[in-house]
Amino acid sequence: SHSAAALYKKATQDAKDHLIQPWPSAGSIGAEARGVLGQGEGIYVHDDRGRKLIDGPAGMWCTNVGHRNAVLADTLREQAMELSYNSPWYTSNEPSAELARRIGAHAPGDLNHVFFTTGGSTAVESALRLAQYYNNVRGLEGKKKFICRDGGYHGSTYLSASLNGSQRSRNWMDFADDMMIRLSCPDPFRRPKGMSLEAFRDQLVKEFADAVAAHGADTIAAFIGEPIMASGGVIVPPEGYFKAIREICTENDILFIADEVVTAFGRLGHVFASEACFDVVPDIITFAKGVTSGYFPLGGMAVSDRLLSTLRNSNHPEAMYAHGLTYSSHPIGCAVALKNLDILEGGLLDHTREITPYFHDKLKRLEELDLVGEVRGMGLMACIECVADRESQNPIRLDTEVGVRIDRHCQELGLLLRPLVHMCVMSPPLVITREQIDTMADILHEGISRTM
Ligand code: PLP
Repeated sequence: SHSAAALYKKATQDAKDHLIQPWPSAGSIGAEARGVLGQGEGIYVHDDRGRKLIDGPAGMWCTNVGHRNAVLADTLREQAMELSYNSPWYTSNEPSAELARRIGAHAPGDLNHVFFTTGGSTAVESALRLAQYYNNVRGLEGKKKFICRDGGYHGSTYLSASLNGSQRSRNWMDFADDMMIRLSCPDPFRRPKGMSLEAFRDQLVKEFADAVAAHGADTIAAFIGEPIMASGGVIVPPEGYFKAIREICTENDILFIADEVVTAFGRLGHVFASEACFDVVPDIITFAKGVTSGYFPLGGMAVSDRLLSTLRNSNHPEAMYAHGLTYSSHPIGCAVALKNLDILEGGLLDHTREITPYFHDKLKRLEELDLVGEVRGMGLMACIECVADRESQNPIRLDTEVGVRIDRHCQELGLLLRPLVHMCVMSPPLVITREQIDTMADILHEGISRTM
């Protein structure tokens, strides 16, 4: 309508004049024009041109139950009317206590305790700091480094960002690099030509073992990895990779932290993916995003009883984990997360597992297009990787931004994507139907064809 168009126009101008958007570049910082989105509905969002678009990335891998869910919306209001906030320093609240218990019941192994944060970066930051503190309390003050991987993404706080592996994001910022041991990206598509998946896995595992030996296990606190690298391009590692790394970690007293900020809460058809999909029980799991389907900023870490009991029984019962957030255990976020978990348990996880093969079957057909080198993924996560030349799998040059061009064409046709240089990633709301997947795949086919 006319007035909606006027409001979008005003919002766009206000944003351009006053809003600093995430990940800006120096030439446009504080003056960027991004499309303003209006009402969401299920898997759809409306844009400022009045178009109804499929929300292909579910916001940022988060809107798992879909937009405009009335149960979650009502819960936000009801909890705000009940108890809008309490200090987590001195008190606790019912929603966070119940949520911690229920998350503990879903988490693998003995991960029965939960610390809540404001999102993914703060969850990762909390886990890293817990790992270092754990070693200080045990008298292992030199055991402080973290193993991370190229292509990983773990957040935007100083320490969590220092784990990130995208070169473009590392060019102009400062990082705690001396704390990080960076290993190769376990990307099967980019493995050496002619190498089997097993040999590729063994090479990655050897690299891990060699790094532990070279730095010394007594200098390494933890390994952190996404079960599936999300922002790195939906990288599914070769079979057995995590299990082998878990064993090396156990042998060397190195904590295994699974960053499930994207993969937890339904994306792969389970509340947590580490054990269900990769047969691994981590020492700590970080989560965020899907825990509230994006309706409230909330994250957290699930921690093993073994780790906590070691701390409780240490020689330093007075040693403080000096770490906590004003909004730890936020009652509104936790109340929303409880209802969100009800929805997942009440059929949405089943639906996700059921529809996943159909999703991949449909998207895989895009490989018939010349521009497409590979379509890959797991659960309701997928990535289309474009290549300049299929024979050599040459990636499209980094400055061509072919993903942005595909996204532009797809938006014209009714689908919002997440472009990543020469890739497009998709992680639709889990409520997506077969018919909607058909539409999505048709639009992608047309959009990529127009890009060629
Ligand atoms: N970890 C992973 C795997 C992520 O994908 C992200 C965000 O995309 C984060 C951590 C950081 O989460 P947040 O942006 O909520 O701070």
